[in-house]
Amino acid sequence: MTKTNNGLMARRQAAVAQGVGQIHPIFTERAENATVWDVEGREYIDFAGGIAVLNTGHLHPKVKAAVAAQLDAFSHTCFMVLGYENYIEVCEKLNHLVPGDFAKKTALFTSGSEAVENAVKVARAYTKRAGVIAFTSGYHGRTMAALALTGKVAPYSKGMGLMSANVFRAEFPCEMHGVSEDDAIESIERIFKNDAEPADIAAIILEPVQGEGGFYAATPSFMKRLRELCDNHGIVLIADEVQTGAGRTGTFFAMEQMDVAADITTFAKSIAGGFPLSGITGKADIMDAVTAGGLGGTYGGSPLACAAALAVIEVFEEEQLLTRANDVGNKLKTALTDMQAKYPQIADVRGLGAMIAIELMEDGVPAPQYSAKILAEARNRGLILLSCGTYGNVIRVLVPLTAPDAQIDAGLAIMDSTFQAVFSEV
Ligand code: PMP
Repeated sequence: MTKTNNGLMARRQAAVAQGVGQIHPIFTERAENATVWDVEGREYIDFAGGIAVLNTGHLHPKVKAAVAAQLDAFSHTCFMVLGYENYIEVCEKLNHLVPGDFAKKTALFTSGSEAVENAVKVARAYTKRAGVIAFTSGYHGRTMAALALTGKVAPYSKGMGLMSANVFRAEFPCEMHGVSEDDAIESIERIFKNDAEPADIAAIILEPVQGEGGFYAATPSFMKRLRELCDNHGIVLIADEVQTGAGRTGTFFAMEQMDVAADITTFAKSIAGGFPLSGITGKADIMDAVTAGGLGGTYGGSPLACAAALAVIEVFEEEQLLTRANDVGNKLKTALTDMQAKYPQIADVRGLGAMIAIELMEDGVPAPQYSAKILAEARNRGLILLSCGTYGNVIRVLVPLTAPDAQIDAGLAIMDSTFQAVFSEV
């Protein structure tokens, strides 16, 4: 029987828990660089995969070859018993790539959520404190502690009860929604006054650019104030670079643009070009606070994923993808700003490097009513987009850094015609 998207959707609905969301009724047959083909043979430009694998595109030939070579040697060992060199090599590379002028160490895991969980474990072991300050609109993953840190309840932890008693919520500075840097710092001071002594706080965690929250960037001056606050109180500063990392923002890590360094950095997603790898890199003495055996896991830093990560890092150097990220970002900003002039619902075009988004507003309030229509209309025209934001009114544009200019232009043209169709409907 021939496979159809509708047929697979029906099977999916019957077999897969609904909590595992899927926005597009499309099932992938094959993907290469910035192109995806569905089971019905339709072709799409992928402007969404940049969130996860597409900094170096789907199945970059170098990544594919590195994983194939590793597969010919061995695919797995019991991490508690036998080591392998590419795990060490990835840690060495990350110790070098993560910003911060101090000795560093790294530990590897599989998902971004796991990296976040382990960053908090390390901070707790180092400080012997339990509290963590996280921010409104922050997103840190779907496992229990990561969920507790995540600022948005629905759909992530809706109906699941309190995740953790040790998490305190500060306000993320966002001028667009009326929160200044001073407001944000004051919200932390309020926590110290009302909820927990600074001496109870192990860590402050934030994304340098909020991803799921809507692509709001922290400013270098805010980061500096957080850094000072952490230094004054012996608090570990954790930068969650799961979404911003691996070159998306035009530097390998976004914190390179923030003047100060975090004590621990998390990374995942694009670091291994679509293979499950995540990790934390931090100050050596902090990272070594956990007793031997307290970190790791069966698949953490799998040899296949490590082979992929080393290839991704090599591709970044060989193809100068950091420069490309900035070029792609500028190209997108120019084109989207032109569209903003035509469509008043596009209230903002923003982002760092190639981590670009537009925010939809109408009559001064967030306009999420357009998001699903835009995603569906773009999909019908052959372009995959993804939304985000506390209000669901932000459309992300995450172009593969390896995509040819002509394909980026084609994707942008589809965005333009999609806006034309959706905004003229009303
Ligand atoms: N932190 C951030 C900043 C993220 O964007 C995400 C994923 N969107 C995570 C953590 C969780 O990563 P994963 O889905 O791999 O668990």
